[in-house]
Amino acid sequence: MTQWPERLVLLGHPLGHSLSPVFQNAALRAAGIQATYMAVDVPRSALDDLLAELRRDRAAGNVTIPYKEVVHDACDRLTAVARHVGAVNTFWTAIDGALVGDNTDVDGFAAAAERLIGPPPEGTVVALLGAGGAAAAVMAAIERWHGARVRLYSRTRDRADALARRFSMNTVIVDSVADALRGATLMVNATPIGLRSGESPVDARLLAEDCAVLDLVYRHGGTTLVQSAKQRGLRADDGLTMLIEQGAHAFERWFGMFPDRDVMWNAVASRV
Ligand code: NAP
Repeated sequence: MTQWPERLVLLGHPLGHSLSPVFQNAALRAAGIQATYMAVDVPRSALDDLLAELRRDRAAGNVTIPYKEVVHDACDRLTAVARHVGAVNTFWTAIDGALVGDNTDVDGFAAAAERLIGPPPEGTVVALLGAGGAAAAVMAAIERWHGARVRLYSRTRDRADALARRFSMNTVIVDSVADALRGATLMVNATPIGLRSGESPVDARLLAEDCAVLDLVYRHGGTTLVQSAKQRGLRADDGLTMLIEQGAHAFERWFGMFPDRDVMWNAVASRV
């Protein structure tokens, strides 16, 4: 970016209570940047007009469910990673007025995984549950890991087949969660299971003793999956780390510098 945006938005519908404005505004204040980040709950019928307005305002922002693919299609330019993932979670307005779409969920997942397991060892086997947009970002990150293999389970097999075809690493589509876990040293939940209920996508007793768990879901008080994995003594983290990290990488795209992550974490500490 060559010109800092003054207006930052999070686009989604319904948005509920998002943590992104909490930690992004804290990071903006800490960096002394005169901009505000606002969540905008926008129905599909109003999205195109809003995107035109955001272009005119030279705004920037993030995109969440259900618009990551819609905004991908609406952008004038895409980064290579956004094109590869097929979804945009971060955008900005270029100096020529073009809306540029990127995907920082990929870097966000990679940072969260590295925080959990360290630099991924060669040949890491990942059990991946889900085949939607978040799973695509996870696949794009794992594709960069040397010799990594994926065991992919999705309740809709066609979606898993289509996802696996788009990425170059060794990916086996399996028919059950238990099969996905076979030999895995990292398990990733990229389904919404556990978001609103105490459900878990996996019976933690099925997890091997060396299997770390990264749940992309986060909820107040922690997810059942992470709690039960930790009770078994396994390394486990929920989606908050990925959320903060994708936000930190988005901030870097907008302002050319990383925010103070401690400020971001402190801002959400009382909310999680
Ligand atoms: P999505 O595109 O709608 O994909 C959801 C995937 O989960 C699909 O494969 C879907 O299968 C599957 N699924 C949904 N409900 C299920 C159920 N009850 N049982 C089994 N499978 C189910 O959603 P997404 O954008 O990938 O997001 C998935 C989740 O990731 C979100 O709910 C969010 O919590 C999390 N996420 C977190 C971050 C973060 O920063 N922490 C970022 C992005 C996403 P079908 O195709 O059969 O419906």
